[in-house]
Amino acid sequence: MRRVSILGATGSIGQNTIDLIARAPDEYDVVALTGGRNIAQLAADARRLGADLAVTAHDHLLPDLREALAGSGVAAAAGAAALIEAGARPADWVMSAIVGSAGLAPGLAALQQGAHLALANKESLVCAGPLILETARASGARLLPVDSEHSAVFQALVGEDPAAIERVIITASGGAFRDWPLAALRKATLAEASSHPNWDMGQRITIDSASMFNKALELIETREYFGVRPDQIETVVHPESMIHALVGFVDGALMAHVGPPDMRHAIGYALHWPDRRNLPVHRLDLAQIAQLTFRAPDPERYPALRLARAVMDRHGLSGAVFNAAKERALDAFIAGRIGFLDMAEVVEEVLERLDARPGLIDAAMTLDNVMQTDHLARICADEVMTERTG
Ligand code: NDP
Repeated sequence: MRRVSILGATGSIGQNTIDLIARAPDEYDVVALTGGRNIAQLAADARRLGADLAVTAHDHLLPDLREALAGSGVAAAAGAAALIEAGARPADWVMSAIVGSAGLAPGLAALQQGAHLALANKESLVCAGPLILETARASGARLLPVDSEHSAVFQALVGEDPAAIERVIITASGGAFRDWPLAALRKATLAEASSHPNWDMGQRITIDSASMFNKALELIETREYFGVRPDQIETVVHPESMIHALVGFVDGALMAHVGPPDMRHAIGYALHWPDRRNLPVHRLDLAQIAQLTFRAPDPERYPALRLARAVMDRHGLSGAVFNAAKERALDAFIAGRIGFLDMAEVVEEVLERLDARPGLIDAAMTLDNVMQTDHLARICADEVMTERTG
């Protein structure tokens, strides 16, 4: 039996992971599940899967969780330290699918205890790539990409010599506004930004797809995962979202990964790696799809891509600043405080202001420094937005 834990079990990735695990219950010993506010789902899954431990991120919800788990034999816990304890419990495979920088410390704890870490949480590599990689190296744990783009690159590289990589091309759907006139973007509403043309995902990542902040995070992750230089990483808009990424080799060959837009493929590949297993995903009919199209991303429409390149050039803790400022700007857009295009302008301003603070971006990459930088960037983003909105 493989011991598995799922951090962020109640979310979109977590539920897709549970869907796969629940199809073969005899193969898995579920160690820990974590969630946030959705206590009913967390408790129901913990009971159904016979987990040892269920953790909610919120201390005040512990009584509710205890009550929901009464008589089940599942231990209940709450709070930031308990999330880390869930990651640290001995397991063979841990899914890191908490949203935001809150996922960093529990994922690190899983790597420290030597579990293979299926990494959906984008913020871990963006904020603390070198720390994550060094922790995995020290414990011998394996990082298994779950984002469809990085899973695609990972799969295209099986059996290949990394030295033969010439470039990595990450595809982007272009999000909700790919065909909108540029002038209309400034007035784009929350409802319009929250509808993705191809993927069914949470609201935050859907808005990040429309602004391409999601792709910006993925560019930074690509560098960390595969050790390629920023100038080797390209993005292309591919509205059909069938090709998730391509790897170009020194002989001119391009290896593309083609699949339906269903996260259970990438999750399943990480779950069964290095094997392939039958997965309950739709099989593509290429004749029916008929054509796949590509176009260069418009830099004016997607300023987040330019900011990601600046972050990659800057190195250090600028990824933590970028991510935190993006999260605060996104909070403000969802709350109706700023407009759609304001998000990139706020992030750029925060990057500039914090870069000017001596020693901040170049401080050592420790968990404490990353979390402190995250905190400062959120405060700075709030200041910038207050100045803008009055
Ligand atoms: P969701 O918002 O659907 O789920 C997030 C999970 O994290 C939930 O279990 C939620 O609990 C929990 N959570 C929320 N806030 C906190 C907190 N402060 N501390 C601890 N746990 C918390 O996100 P997704 O599943 O969509 O995404 C998870 C991660 O994977 C993100 O980093 C995302 O960018 C990445 N990703 C997602 C993809 C997708 O298709 N959805 C694709 C590729 C990457 P609760 O709901 O109970 O409050």
